[in-house]
Amino acid sequence: MVLVYSIPMRTRFRGITVREGVLLEGPAGWGEFCAFLDYADDECAPWLACALEAAEQGWPAPVRSEIPVNCTVPVVSPERAHAVVAASGCATAKVKVADPGTPLADDLARVEAVRDALGPAGAIRVDANMAWDVDTAVSAIRELARAAGGLEYVEQPCRSIEELAAVRRRVDVRIAADESIRRAEDPLKVAVAGAADIAVIKVAPLGGVRRALAVAEACGLPCVVSSAVETSVGMAAGLALAAALPELDFACGLATLSLMDGDVTTDSPRPVNGYLPVPAHPPAPDRFAEFAADDETTARWLARLDRVRNLT
Ligand SMILES: [Mg+2]
Repeated sequence: MVLVYSIPMRTRFRGITVREGVLLEGPAGWGEFCAFLDYADDECAPWLACALEAAEQGWPAPVRSEIPVNCTVPVVSPERAHAVVAASGCATAKVKVADPGTPLADDLARVEAVRDALGPAGAIRVDANMAWDVDTAVSAIRELARAAGGLEYVEQPCRSIEELAAVRRRVDVRIAADESIRRAEDPLKVAVAGAADIAVIKVAPLGGVRRALAVAEACGLPCVVSSAVETSVGMAAGLALAAALPELDFACGLATLSLMDGDVTTDSPRPVNGYLPVPAHPPAPDRFAEFAADDETTARWLARLDRVRNLT
């Protein structure tokens, strides 16, 4: 069985206001194929492999039953940031910084408010989404670390691997690579270049749980598993990856269901005290009818699915 869904975003993400994808059922359960629309067919092949692994094969055995997750603080006022963190129950907050047009002073005030909400034991990480050049990154990271009372890490301060390596040599805050890691070979490049202390890995672009585990092992960096904003069906694969990693030293970016205005299942995992439970298998899309895509969207996704299938 193949179902095409369309769910409005509650929070704009990657410029996307509606999340679309395909749910496919196989002997092992349900998988989700939801490569972003700007991805070319050949870039979608690992995303399909991830969906087929879930549907046809299932996942390796977990070594933990719950996954610590971070809450996400978008570019909002200090008051709002404080409220988001306090309501989340998470011990780790990821704070978006360096948004175009937002002065550093606003970012400093936001991380201060987040520290106030988390308390001294909480962990604050910031994500600059490639916005800075090397010199700007170095000075901003120092100021942010001071305002935050310590940073767990800075995610993707600059665009290129060379710039990440240069920043890493000049600050004593850990650097995490996110956008630099989109294909299976990327984490190895990042590690070899000495460009990061942490790899942010996503199960679908890396081709499924088994391939992502192999990539994590080969790159030798501590990993943070992040979502690509899937429904609970695709999210289950990310949780399976986080559950199967031999070491998990940092909270994961998997608490993203709340970015979407609904889910295809009544069986949505919800964080409790900052942890998501690891599901034994992907949930069935028993609420699919509420989010069924229209005929045009369905036809477009089924054609895409066919093209990507024929590539592999
Ligand atoms: Mg990021």
